[in-house]
Amino acid sequence: MAEPELTAAELLQTVRATLLALEELRGDLRALAARVVALGEQVAATTADPTAAEAAVDARAAALLPAIALADANAPGRVVIADDVDKYAEPPHDGPPCLELLPICGARCCEFDVALSSQDLDEGILRWEHGRPYLLRHGPDGRCAHLGATGCDAYAHRPATCRRYDCRDDPRVWTDYARRELASAATIDGGGPDRRRELDQTRTRGLMFESLHVRARR
Ligand code: SF4
Ligand code: SF4
Repeated sequence: MAEPELTAAELLQTVRATLLALEELRGDLRALAARVVALGEQVAATTADPTAAEAAVDARAAALLPAIALADANAPGRVVIADDVDKYAEPPHDGPPCLELLPICGARCCEFDVALSSQDLDEGILRWEHGRPYLLRHGPDGRCAHLGATGCDAYAHRPATCRRYDCRDDPRVWTDYARRELASAATIDGGGPDRRRELDQTRTRGLMFESLHVRARR
């Protein structure tokens, strides 16, 4: 399969999205720094033991961090990279009969956000959203850009998530799989705390690996 070319416009869009995300982050950090300094001054002015108060603040901040990270997991502009796995070593799984179910499900799973891995990015075959790195690219119809009239045009190179996915217990696809009752499309973007936690953990692992990977290639 020919490698899709990254156009100059797409490259510039990616650079712009990156710069904007960095700029937003700097703004958030400035606001946060001002608030932390103001709080520190307030604590120092009102406590008899500033050292103990500072230690208590540090302990509380460490305890709050996981909850804040979870709330931030789905924020726009976050870089998402999938786990570092060899997708070609994924064991074949006994999933639903997709060909039989396609007239009902309409390949609902190909509307979901799927993060690419370093392996996918290095291959340069799967397309990703240049404004939302590194999610599998969607077309104007909201479905994966690789979903063509005859199915997945990148099937041999599809991401690990697509290889592992099984929709049968996924409420975004079925309200009742056994009865072939399709869920409302409105549930596609749904995701409770467990899904956000999973996303955040995946992102953290992915970013750590990507950082090592990029440095090793320098
Ligand atoms: S995994 Fe489920 S939703 Fe996706 S194509 Fe197969 S049957 Fe349809
Ligand atoms: S890569 Fe293929 S299997 Fe995966 S979401 Fe896109 S069209 Fe579907």
